[in-house]
Amino acid sequence: MSAKLGNNDAQPSPTLILAIESSCDDTSAAVLRGNVVLSNIVAGQAVHSKYGGVVPELASRAHQQHIVPVVQQALAEAGIDKSALSAIAFTVGPGLMGSLLVGASFAKTMALGLRIPLLAVNHMQAHILAHFIQSENDPPQFPFLCLTVSGGHTQIVRVDAPNRMTVLGKTIDDAAGEAFDKAAKVLGLGYPGGPMIDQLAQQGNDQRFAFATPKVEGCDYSFSGVKTSFLYLVQKELRANPNFVTKNLADICASYQRHVVAYLLTVMQRAISETKVKSIALAGGVSANSKLRHEFALLAEKNGCTAHIPPFAYCTDNAAMIGMAGHFQFINEEWASQSTVPQPRLVF
Ligand code: ADP
Ligand code: MG
Repeated sequence: MSAKLGNNDAQPSPTLILAIESSCDDTSAAVLRGNVVLSNIVAGQAVHSKYGGVVPELASRAHQQHIVPVVQQALAEAGIDKSALSAIAFTVGPGLMGSLLVGASFAKTMALGLRIPLLAVNHMQAHILAHFIQSENDPPQFPFLCLTVSGGHTQIVRVDAPNRMTVLGKTIDDAAGEAFDKAAKVLGLGYPGGPMIDQLAQQGNDQRFAFATPKVEGCDYSFSGVKTSFLYLVQKELRANPNFVTKNLADICASYQRHVVAYLLTVMQRAISETKVKSIALAGGVSANSKLRHEFALLAEKNGCTAHIPPFAYCTDNAAMIGMAGHFQFINEEWASQSTVPQPRLVF
């Protein structure tokens, strides 16, 4: 496949794909014509915020409530009748089993009823392929390295083609998003905490506090030590001053954010140096982080690489990226069968 794939709006593409994403706590449906997003509806689930994390059983029940109106809205906003659809793409994994089952069952039933093909999409590959959705940004040239940072995953992937990806490194414990969310929980901020840390960090001194830097070989990551060092620092300071968190919130957030971003990019630098690949991309929910976006662009500049950062709407979980990945699978005729089962621990 050529790097032109991201610009195929010049060639009329008749494929109309309805995509469904339900891997975690967002129910989303999108309609794409080729790589053009006609609609992308995301229904979040406020029910989890009081628990400080996603409750799987509540997530699957909320998906059941949301899926019909979300799909209806996606079709209506796209101005497309379901009879015009070419195929239905859905997230097959990784994710929560109960959540995945809702999207998979819905997609299978609808595809069967409409007698159209079914496309089973890997959520992690879809985060990466979101770069090929038509937008004001240029898509990355193959091969490129993608740093995927989300609430559940942290990976550096070498992408040679839409269906040829190699994981160069990944976290051996927590994900980068978890490192943000768990720190936010210690500080008494809500869930998900990443965006709040980002916002509070804007006013803070990022040199005030230091945290542990893990020593992990190759291109793998580890966040459990970073998270623990954060917890110990806060506990120690609170013993000396019960108002430590409230008095220093912005500085704590800024210092921690700087540390996590620096660590993410130290390993990314290693991957760039080892592979000599000249195009680098960010994906996943944590790529919404303002510090990471800024530093990532600087890292690319330092290495003479092009940097590719997805539009905000395609960073966190959304069905448009599932539709984009489905589009490539449609071209390659990679059909799924009615007996396809969700795979919570799917890798690639
Ligand atoms: P998953 O697919 O694993 O559920 P997403 O791709 O939806 O994850 O990303 C959600 C994660 O992104 C959460 O951990 C959230 O805290 C994090 N996140 C979102 N925005 C920001 C931000 N601005 N800064 C840091 N983390 C962020
Ligand atoms: Mg995700």
